Amino acid sequence: MKSFLKLIVFFACIQLTAQNTPWSENLITVPEKSNYQKTSTYAEVMAFINAIQSKSDLVHLEFMGKSMEGKDIPVVVMANPKVSSPQEAKASGKPVMYIQGNIHSGEVEGKEILQQMMRDILLGDKKHLLDNQIIIFAPIYNTDSNDKMEQGRRPSQEDSPVEVGIRANSQGFDLNRDGIKMEAFETNALIQNVLIKWDPEMLVDLHTTNGTWHGYGVTYAPSYHYAGEKAPYDFTWNTMLPSIVKSIDKNYGVKLGPYGGYSLREGWPAKAIYTYNHHPRYIVNQMGLRNKMGILSEAFAHDRLYERMNGTYGFVAEILEFTNNNGRKIAEINAKATQDAIENVKLNAGKAKKGVRFKMVPLDDTFTLRTYDYTAYKNESGETRYVRSGKIINVPNVQNYSKFDADLESTLPRGYLLPKSMKHIVDHLKKQGVEVTELKSSKKAVGEEFMLSSLNLSTREFEGHFMANAEGEFVSKTKTFKNGDYWIDMAQPLSNLIFYMLEPQSDDGLVTWNFFDDYFKENGLDKKPIAYPVFKYYELK
Ligand SMILES: [Zn+2]
Repeated sequence: MKSFLKLIVFFACIQLTAQNTPWSENLITVPEKSNYQKTSTYAEVMAFINAIQSKSDLVHLEFMGKSMEGKDIPVVVMANPKVSSPQEAKASGKPVMYIQGNIHSGEVEGKEILQQMMRDILLGDKKHLLDNQIIIFAPIYNTDSNDKMEQGRRPSQEDSPVEVGIRANSQGFDLNRDGIKMEAFETNALIQNVLIKWDPEMLVDLHTTNGTWHGYGVTYAPSYHYAGEKAPYDFTWNTMLPSIVKSIDKNYGVKLGPYGGYSLREGWPAKAIYTYNHHPRYIVNQMGLRNKMGILSEAFAHDRLYERMNGTYGFVAEILEFTNNNGRKIAEINAKATQDAIENVKLNAGKAKKGVRFKMVPLDDTFTLRTYDYTAYKNESGETRYVRSGKIINVPNVQNYSKFDADLESTLPRGYLLPKSMKHIVDHLKKQGVEVTELKSSKKAVGEEFMLSSLNLSTREFEGHFMANAEGEFVSKTKTFKNGDYWIDMAQPLSNLIFYMLEPQSDDGLVTWNFFDDYFKENGLDKKPIAYPVFKYYELK
């Protein structure tokens, strides 16, 4: 009997070791090794990637570009079989999914779990995630600022890990406000060498929230689509995210909820949550204007690092499970959105109106909010104040302000024409992936010219800018453009992004970001109305 038991124990041990082959030490991440007290440096992330690369033949490493301090920003391409170029990716027929961590260097969990997930996809139990898709990770997008670590940088994280890096990049820019103006080295690298080059169907941006004591491990937002095509948003919001809410709870024990904060000034219990906004300066939102899908992931700041990592890992794992099963459908929806955008221009130019300024309104449906509870009291001045309890409650019928209605609309053009002198504008559009050609002969354009009556600059500096707001009116006009002037045919994939960048009254366009300030000043806008130099036409003769 004894020897029989021994035999069972012996086989059980074999079973255990077979299932849990220990990793070599260089495949253990810095937080795992330090009891979650430390986060990895740039050199440690690179060492981890190199260790993986030496053990797997399914990985291709390249760099999207350099930071200001000259650090190469790694891009890890995982595919089975391996692909080393966008051409090979395209030839495989598999859709590409892109996930980035560390856009804000104090928010470290994305950087850490992308390393764990690389290990599990390439060498562990998640190899099946490469069955139907190509996965690209950029674990350390903001390289420079990651290494400028200090204690106390993010108070809501309560020093877990003890030290973290700086939010802005080394030029002082918030990389998640730079999607339109592209002033950061990193944004140029991302748009040029990931979005345009690899053409991912989806981008996931990994963050940690700053404050609200909701009761979710991770919150999410889709790419707000309000000036773009609706289908990619609808699929993200109505199909993909609800499915992941269920699977992450089941597989990781993580509660996932919509991104947003409430204000205690509105009383308790909360009646509404408010998201951030729709501007395409945020890279997730910009994906919608590129007819692609985007997901914002925000770990709960007050959780300890190991919990935030588990939540973010679970979210990324379940997103990739979903896209592994539905990637082709996602690619089809995006391709159809691109076709629809082009068709809309061809059929409705000069007739259809699209929003250029938006206001946040509640979604039609309310939801049940999971949140920490608060207790009300009156202070010495008789004002109502609240203290947070440790209890998590469900508050029904909460409005979710995450819909954006047009405040101001403008007519969709067949295209735009710019004089030769606007080369700097054209160069910027080309960096975004816009197709611009030079006229080979004179063309008569029938359309509208925007007469600017004033340009109002913000009094508050934001990202090195005093953002501009143009007022004026469109007037019908026929104008002749010459050989060498610039022509943008809107019947192209990025028409929605072009429209948002070039419309003079857009709330996040090139006018907003001061690209035309000098032109307006030189032409005497302070004395008389000035014609906006980007002409929109409805017909070209
Ligand atoms: Zn962030």
